[in-house]
Amino acid sequence: MEYFIDVILPIPLEKLFTYKISQAEAELLSPGVRVGVPFGKSKVYTALVYRIHNNPPDVYEAKEIHKILDDEPIVNRFQLKHWKWIADYYMCSIGEVFRSAVPGAFLLESETLILRNTEVEIEESQLEDDEFLVFEALHHQSSLKVHEVSAIVDRKNVLPILNRLLEKNVILLKEEIYEQYKPKLIKYVKLGQSYLSEENLEALLKTLTRAPKQSQVVLSLFQLQAVHKKPIKVSELEEASGASKAVIKSLVDKEILEEYFFRTDRVNYEGEEENSELKALNEYQQKAFEDIHENFGKELVTLLHGVTSSGKTEVYVKLIDECIQKGRQALYLLPEIALTTQLITRLQQYFGEKVSVYHSKYNVQERVEVWNNVLAQKSKAQIVIGARSALFLPFSNLGLVIVDEEHESSFKQFDPAPRYHARDAAIVLGNLHGSNILLGSATPSIESYLNGQRGKYGFAEIQRRFGNVLMPDMELVDLKEQTRKKRMKGHFSERLFLEIEEALNEGGQVILFQNRRGYAPIVECTTCGHSPQCPNCDVSLTFHQYKKQLRCHYCGYHMALPEICQACGSHTLDTKGFGTEQVEKELETLFPEAKTWRMDLDTTRGKHGYEKIITAFEQQEIDILVGTQMLTKGLDFRNVSLVGIMNADSLLNFPDYRAHERCFQLLTQVAGRAGRTQKRGKVIIQSYNPYHQILKQVSTNDFEGMFKEQLYEREQYKYPPKNRIIKITFKHKEYNRLNEAAEWFAKALRNSLGGNVLGPEYPPVARIRNQFLKNLLVKIPNGTSVSGVKSGIRRTERSFNAVAQFRSVRVIYNVDHI
Ligand code: ADP
Ligand code: ZN
Ligand code: ZN
Repeated sequence: MEYFIDVILPIPLEKLFTYKISQAEAELLSPGVRVGVPFGKSKVYTALVYRIHNNPPDVYEAKEIHKILDDEPIVNRFQLKHWKWIADYYMCSIGEVFRSAVPGAFLLESETLILRNTEVEIEESQLEDDEFLVFEALHHQSSLKVHEVSAIVDRKNVLPILNRLLEKNVILLKEEIYEQYKPKLIKYVKLGQSYLSEENLEALLKTLTRAPKQSQVVLSLFQLQAVHKKPIKVSELEEASGASKAVIKSLVDKEILEEYFFRTDRVNYEGEEENSELKALNEYQQKAFEDIHENFGKELVTLLHGVTSSGKTEVYVKLIDECIQKGRQALYLLPEIALTTQLITRLQQYFGEKVSVYHSKYNVQERVEVWNNVLAQKSKAQIVIGARSALFLPFSNLGLVIVDEEHESSFKQFDPAPRYHARDAAIVLGNLHGSNILLGSATPSIESYLNGQRGKYGFAEIQRRFGNVLMPDMELVDLKEQTRKKRMKGHFSERLFLEIEEALNEGGQVILFQNRRGYAPIVECTTCGHSPQCPNCDVSLTFHQYKKQLRCHYCGYHMALPEICQACGSHTLDTKGFGTEQVEKELETLFPEAKTWRMDLDTTRGKHGYEKIITAFEQQEIDILVGTQMLTKGLDFRNVSLVGIMNADSLLNFPDYRAHERCFQLLTQVAGRAGRTQKRGKVIIQSYNPYHQILKQVSTNDFEGMFKEQLYEREQYKYPPKNRIIKITFKHKEYNRLNEAAEWFAKALRNSLGGNVLGPEYPPVARIRNQFLKNLLVKIPNGTSVSGVKSGIRRTERSFNAVAQFRSVRVIYNVDHI
């Protein structure tokens, strides 16, 4: 009898691939085990066994596998089912799901691989354009091969670029295949063998009197040992003795000290305060908790609508506690940016080392550790708190899934495939496990709220802030009127200015929100009207005054700010619009005494940038924090008495059917940072359109009103939630070919789907990184089979790919969330 396996290759292949194995291998293998396999002429991949059987493939001769890489499956059956669903639903290959689901360390491939050096923080402005492209690509893909780099920078000889990147420590090269994950070792020290007897020790201390630094080290070691009675880390000894590494090394060289190593888990919890008592819920929290319970009993996904600062987290904590008491695993999903030490510490205080954290800023090794702990159902990973990728972990006994801030658009992955929505994928995952599922938000998404209203989801709510703190007092300020009356100081209305002054005088902190980073989004010549554009993208360059640069926010291109207009040569360059840098600048003159800080993408790069600012703000080292939407995410600051929205209009005028919903969510969330303790908080919203319906709804906390109105509009224009949509994006570097391709596809699709195919149309930014873009929108009315439409689209794509000149046009699907 012959044996075969179907494997998932980590590449966009529509089908599984079949390999031949021996009977002995068949006995060793099971689904979820990795194998090294040859592919194509010379490639080698890490593939995942999906199925074992006895049927040779019809159209090709099955090759043999190279190597079995695991003794036990690293991926379980729940995951394989879940991945299959993701691939079908979001219209990608299961190989793409595989690639994105497992830590990069599980996927090593042949040939020279270029990896990103995650140990070093890279200052992006130090990179040349082509270097930046490679760097950027390595954020989307765990590794690149040389020919892939060629394709990215569009040049044959890329070795000079790679050499420069190596010199700058941006990349690492890797030639080995199947390298094993190495646990991190921690260095400890003890006294050398020969000094364990008292005599020798005394003699030693005498000789060391002439070397005070060295003797200090030995003495510190004694002290540490006396206090701790446990192994001493080299780092601890360094700190205790104040001696340098060199001093310790010289003692080791003389064999006075001896070093030894222990393996340790990288993601270590070292807190002391664990197992604090859970807080007693107040009556509103308790009511919500009971309602959630009742719905869980009916196996319903439940939505918790609790206003900002109502104490949702404490309700989650109670539910997590119950779940782990039953010995099951709990998953707590948050948008990446909301995963702060604030929250992690809060959870660790209750659950100690049962809490593991998983997100993209963790390096590959750390992720492997969490993965393995979850796989082995270790108690230290019984509770996983993480960003969207955490839902790919190998849970086998999931009892609770919490999706906090469920309305957040950053739960959607846009690039690369799978372009999934983590909330929706988490619901499917929870259902596979028969687990309880809770969505929570102060501003639920229209779709979840509708599900709650229709009884498809269970519903619970908390309408009061914890401790009966009042909702903040909101005031709309008309910028048009203030300008006319000459009441503006820069971009600050008199009202906002006075409120800031008062807040500061009373020792309160202030948050100012402006949804753009940089100094000004447009630089314009007042003589000829020219404004500098990105050479690679169809957008204006944003002026960053801090670096005196013009930057593209789409591709990273940057140049020094020219002194004269590049078109007409006049010295009349001026800026239009404003970003966070400009607000910060104006504050320097308006409130010279106040300590101001800025929080946006430019100030929070690197693993801890964001945390540092939050901590400094929490500890009141900062009086005024200016920032982009990063400020909105679930932060719990005690002393913020004023929140100012610099300009709400930019949020309202977005060309997107969700713009109004998002504007409501964003503003309500930022406003929710104000007055979380006894004194009522104040919020000032500046706008040229203060009578806009959405702003009214925000300022009166009218979620219901917003919901009804938005739902009505969505129905009118056939948008979700009652209708479904799929966006198909075409991408190519030749304008004409792109147009032809998109037209061809649209026509073919209309033949099968009729009038529900809209476009093709250029998106607002129609060229990014020298690739032109065009979109088709497919609307699927209520009652039509969604999977039927998807297979129709897939069929069209197959015929499309059969046309030679279209083959190089990329086709990208975004389902539901576009
Ligand atoms: P939300 O997530 O709804 O915005 P939080 O869970 O952050 O609200 O709660 C707001 C504040 O109230 C936090 O500082 C929290 O510690 C406190 N709090 C919430 N519930 C309780 C409770 N039952 N007992 C004591 N403090 C609570
Ligand atoms: Zn000009
Ligand atoms: Zn650009």
